[in-house]
Amino acid sequence: MKTQEYIQIEEQFGAHNYHPLDVVIEKAQGVWVYDVEGNKYLDCLSAYSAVNQGHVHPKILAAMVEQAQKVTLTSRAFRNDQLPLLYKELSEVTGYEMSLPMNSGAEAVETALKLARKWAYTVKGVPRHQAEIITVSGNFHGRTISIVSFSTEPSYRDDFGPFTPGFLTVPYGDDKAIESAITPNTAAVMIEPIQGEAGVIIPPAGYLKKVAELCKQNNVLLIADEIQTGLCRTGKLFASQHEDVRPDIVVIGKALAGGFYPVSAVLADAAILGLFTPGEHGSTFGGNPLAAAVARAALKVLVDEKLADRSAELGTYFLDQLAEIPSKHVKEVRGRGLFIGVELNEASGGARRFCEALQKTGILAKETHNYVIRFAPPLVIDKETIDWALPRIREVLQMQ
Ligand SMILES: *Cc1c(COP(=O)(O)O)cnc(C)c1O
Repeated sequence: MKTQEYIQIEEQFGAHNYHPLDVVIEKAQGVWVYDVEGNKYLDCLSAYSAVNQGHVHPKILAAMVEQAQKVTLTSRAFRNDQLPLLYKELSEVTGYEMSLPMNSGAEAVETALKLARKWAYTVKGVPRHQAEIITVSGNFHGRTISIVSFSTEPSYRDDFGPFTPGFLTVPYGDDKAIESAITPNTAAVMIEPIQGEAGVIIPPAGYLKKVAELCKQNNVLLIADEIQTGLCRTGKLFASQHEDVRPDIVVIGKALAGGFYPVSAVLADAAILGLFTPGEHGSTFGGNPLAAAVARAALKVLVDEKLADRSAELGTYFLDQLAEIPSKHVKEVRGRGLFIGVELNEASGGARRFCEALQKTGILAKETHNYVIRFAPPLVIDKETIDWALPRIREVLQMQ
């Protein structure tokens, strides 16, 4: 079947909640994906940073196949021999004493929010059902009703109320606004250290550090949503580490399973994550042996292949080279590691047409909101491949 036939079937039988590029992928390896017509593309999105380790990484694949032949799902009603090892290895790699596994990122965010409320009532002494959680403008934490309750993006929330109470939103990058919003009932502040979906928005230097101090002074938990920025994407294991911040709670997902499987987790020390008691929270698939085996292999690849260092080094190179491309369309090039946003001027006509033009040159990138092209290839990319991409990107950024 040809591209157009797949698209026609998808449009007819599938809900229209996405606007994908018209490329139908049938296989992938490393940084490259192949469509049904045999065309080859450099993946510069990495499934929103879920395939930091590269597509179909052989070691993760082997772990998945091996585990799939043994046992895939036990439910948490019984124990399995993979989950304890995932807990231990996550703790060794991240430095947090405990973790709680879920599946999607949104579920892990919901888990962190429940945990912060539980902590507020049982440790901080906030009157029951009065806990407040501070979030910031431009946030993206997922798609559940509670999470879209504090989104500031109209399309994410306008038709989906009534909303969950207990959240307030202040401008991103403004620590004074957080200071003013904190009350005795504040349980937590939740932040993305760099906002991915908002367009690779990097807050002012020192912001996260200041927010962490405010949280400490006021007995408020700091939750970092590192689902996209974490696991080596920005050149460190966690983007919070760029400011030497150790949040009380970290939420991870996406690359935790290298793109093979949905696995997410909440990380915290025992004084916080130890608060849940049996029955208070759960998930049929969370922590299943297949997920745990895949996540263990995916974590090991991040460490063994030193993907944080690779991201830092190649990201700096890629960013510097992109910044040197003369283009009347470009307003700003920014990023950390291989997490790069090219923001276009309003007069450019929007990022979509540039992404479509990139596709024609053999590069898959996706616009985020109207004016930003995100370049976030798998972290296993090499300099030669970046050098292959640069003239193609240049050609596209210089079109009329
Ligand atoms: C992708 C993402 C989520 C949601 O993850 P899902 O697996 O799609 O539910 C939450 N927060 C951030 C920062 C993300 O990038």
